[in-house]
Amino acid sequence: MKYLLLALCLVVGLSAAKANEGSIAFVGGLLIDGTDAELLENSTVVITDGRIQAVGHRADVGIPEGSQIIDITGKIIMPGIVNAHGHVGDVIGLEGGHYTVDNILRQLSLYARYGVTTVNSLGGDAEEGFVVRNVQNNNGLDRARLMLSGSVVTGDTEEEIRAEVNRNADMGADYIKMRLDDNLGATRKMPYPLFDALLDQAHKRRLPLAVHLFYKEDAEYMLHAGADLIAHSVRDMPVDQEFIDLVLEKDVCYVPTLTREVSTFAYASEPEFFSDPYFLKEVDPAVLRELMQPERQERMRNSRFAQGYRAGLDVAMGNIGQLYQGGVKIAMGTDTGVAARFQGYFEHMEMHMMVEAGMSPIDVIRASTGVAADCIGAHDVGTIEPGKWGDLVILTENPAENIMNTKTIESVWIAGNRVPD
Ligand SMILES: [Zn+2]
Repeated sequence: MKYLLLALCLVVGLSAAKANEGSIAFVGGLLIDGTDAELLENSTVVITDGRIQAVGHRADVGIPEGSQIIDITGKIIMPGIVNAHGHVGDVIGLEGGHYTVDNILRQLSLYARYGVTTVNSLGGDAEEGFVVRNVQNNNGLDRARLMLSGSVVTGDTEEEIRAEVNRNADMGADYIKMRLDDNLGATRKMPYPLFDALLDQAHKRRLPLAVHLFYKEDAEYMLHAGADLIAHSVRDMPVDQEFIDLVLEKDVCYVPTLTREVSTFAYASEPEFFSDPYFLKEVDPAVLRELMQPERQERMRNSRFAQGYRAGLDVAMGNIGQLYQGGVKIAMGTDTGVAARFQGYFEHMEMHMMVEAGMSPIDVIRASTGVAADCIGAHDVGTIEPGKWGDLVILTENPAENIMNTKTIESVWIAGNRVPD
């Protein structure tokens, strides 16, 4: 295994070895920097050796001699999109169980082509993922950055659970992930005392705990206990002011994953997005054919889970409006990377749904860049500020005016490298 991993390191490392050197200056664009700052017309963004060196009004920013200058007058420059909840490497077509370095790299490139430049993979991660992540901090990178949790921690005893947390921590996990859920009554929920042990062990290892949940009472429990990330929407009932106050007091971020719900019922008939060219440009036609098989559609139409999660989505949409009005930090996340949750495309659908749920387009952009990065502890990405990695998206239309314009991506840059189309 050691030698295999060494060989993989070489392969992954070599593919990223063509580092850009010197400076690139993006000049003349409308800057959305991912922070609370106002949009800035006629900006200059300078990237040197993969990192952002200077940002500001064109008149105020000097361009280093010998820079490659890219005129983006009339276009929009914004940070690369950060997905606070995805999964990477497992699925090919609609089938899980394909976890390899190749598949991880393929999916990270797919995310990147859609402008998603950082993915927080919350579970299902093994050794190969860590190999890929461990070589990504270099200025030759041109695929999405990866954060990892290792396995989703389960266990019937405190000992098993603590051992599983340790295994993930020893591999180098960025996060610990667990599920506090009974899957609409189909499985047994982890008892609270075991949850407490899991959280205690995660924090002993100085790792934040992301919690998959469905019920409001479980969200309240994990918040009181001191867990760190609400990884899905509360979907059983509306949140109230008391809940909002608790989230604010604990300073925990909320990741809605609305498109996760969509994927549970959307294929009961042909979904509208099956005719969106922005979806079709990357999807495997065989996957579409499979999803449109009448028996498969019929099964989904009659599924108790499809109906339960569709109802859950309505509750989730209402809750986002409430939480947003209440000032809770909402981070964009999708739970993509599971079969039929399409990486890259669903992040755009998620942003559009967040606007439908009541958020302003600019706040959705922040939730999908600076806020998401801050929420997951990805401190050197997410905004266009000096010192951060040069992870950028250039758009032809302004997404702060219409969130659908996130789909007008002209080019994507990671560490100052243009992501291949
Ligand atoms: Zn997930």
